[in-house]
Amino acid sequence: MENDLLKIGSAYIRVSDERQDEYSPDSQLKKIREYAAKEGYLIPDEYVFYDDGISGKSTQKRNDFNRMIAIAKEKSHPFDVIYVWKFSRFARNQEESMVYKNLLRKKGISVVSVSEPIPEGHFGSLIERIIEWTDEYYLVNLGAEVTRGMTEKASRGEPTCAPPFGYVMKDKKYYPDEASGAANIVREIFTRYAAGEKQRAIAQSLGLSGVRTRYGNMPDNRWIDYVLHNPCYIGKVRWSLNGARAVSKLDFENENIMIVNGQHEPLISVDLWNKVQQMLDRQKKAYSKYARKSQTVEYMLKGLVRCGVCGSTLACNGTSGKEKVKCLQCCNYARGSCHTSHSITIPKIEAAFIEGLEDSVGKKQFTMVPDEPKKTDSTTIDYDKLIAVENRRLERAKEAYLAEIDTIEQYAKNKNEITERIAELKAKRDKHIVKEIDIDVFAKKVEKVVEYIKRDDVDAIAKNEALRTIIEKVVYEKAKGNLAIYFHDS
Ligand SMILES: [Zn+2]
Repeated sequence: MENDLLKIGSAYIRVSDERQDEYSPDSQLKKIREYAAKEGYLIPDEYVFYDDGISGKSTQKRNDFNRMIAIAKEKSHPFDVIYVWKFSRFARNQEESMVYKNLLRKKGISVVSVSEPIPEGHFGSLIERIIEWTDEYYLVNLGAEVTRGMTEKASRGEPTCAPPFGYVMKDKKYYPDEASGAANIVREIFTRYAAGEKQRAIAQSLGLSGVRTRYGNMPDNRWIDYVLHNPCYIGKVRWSLNGARAVSKLDFENENIMIVNGQHEPLISVDLWNKVQQMLDRQKKAYSKYARKSQTVEYMLKGLVRCGVCGSTLACNGTSGKEKVKCLQCCNYARGSCHTSHSITIPKIEAAFIEGLEDSVGKKQFTMVPDEPKKTDSTTIDYDKLIAVENRRLERAKEAYLAEIDTIEQYAKNKNEITERIAELKAKRDKHIVKEIDIDVFAKKVEKVVEYIKRDDVDAIAKNEALRTIIEKVVYEKAKGNLAIYFHDS
């Protein structure tokens, strides 16, 4: 019996305490029924499904949701549409939503959002997905207002985050930073790369001429790479559907990043940009071929040697001379941000290191590095985790300010409070408990390790493990020809 008046639908309602602006379940149901009635659907009470007050991320406790899906799968096909107030009430991530919608579609059941009506066809399903995306973004990141604000800004081509190097922000717009010369440095980076110079060489020469990044760091090859990949310089704005933070990372291939036309003046031409992108692609392909070929080199001091100038780890970066002796080099030097080469062959540094160890044992003199605070029952607090939480808060406060939700005064207040808390947490974390050590016992221990690492029948990985039980770090100062060994006893 087909009768227009007897089309049966169902309603799924889920409330959670995370959104303040929400209608009560009753008024949601009322709105859903009104909407359904206009489409000729009747929603009997038995097909009103309701899940209560759980956070959107947890799907396990959605008893009524599961019951609804089970009924939907029945052969009798009791209803052919599920009405929801918002898509975010139906499923809280895109994957989940797609899985259930596909399943329901196969059964001839559609999911309709009453407050987000969607046109038919491909265009409609695209919008539907964008709505799901932004809902997911809300849950993972910020308040709904921030999302809305940023989406609007991004769609208008307005900046959603702090300006990149080479621009300044004035009246919520990016302007080329000609005053400090940064805009010209961006142009220079693109031109030099297009002329065949590599990222590392560009980073090094800019660093030596006093250029610093927006955060005051020495330029390195990754920073140059980031600049070369940033479409902001041809007048585009990037916006991440996963949250603004993702944009600042080096994931320029992230599919969730939306690129729209901005309102700011480009710093370089599209021709130059295209040429550079082609070269970057070619470079990447060549590099991945090389990376596949290269093997991991094992040596006993792996990960233990630091550069005496910048503190970065020394890593094996190739071979030297006809005999192809393996060499170590400061990682930052290899990236172009440390300007003092710390190249040394592995046999040379190993010999000097063993000599240094034996000297320490002979004199019974060890430079000890304080131990990490012991996590006893009373101090099981993970301060690093707490600090990370505060840092995230700080970022959010900044985002809220940039999205024009908070005033500068509110932002300044939040920032002050959070910064104070971070300082407090750091102070608590850094209260080291320096243990008294028995020099004679420790010297014996070191002696044993020295014997072990001098053996020929032990491999480099085992030697490295043995060393890590007594060595905190080895600092190599090439200029002084000095190797400083720092011990720990734990
Ligand atoms: Zn260095």
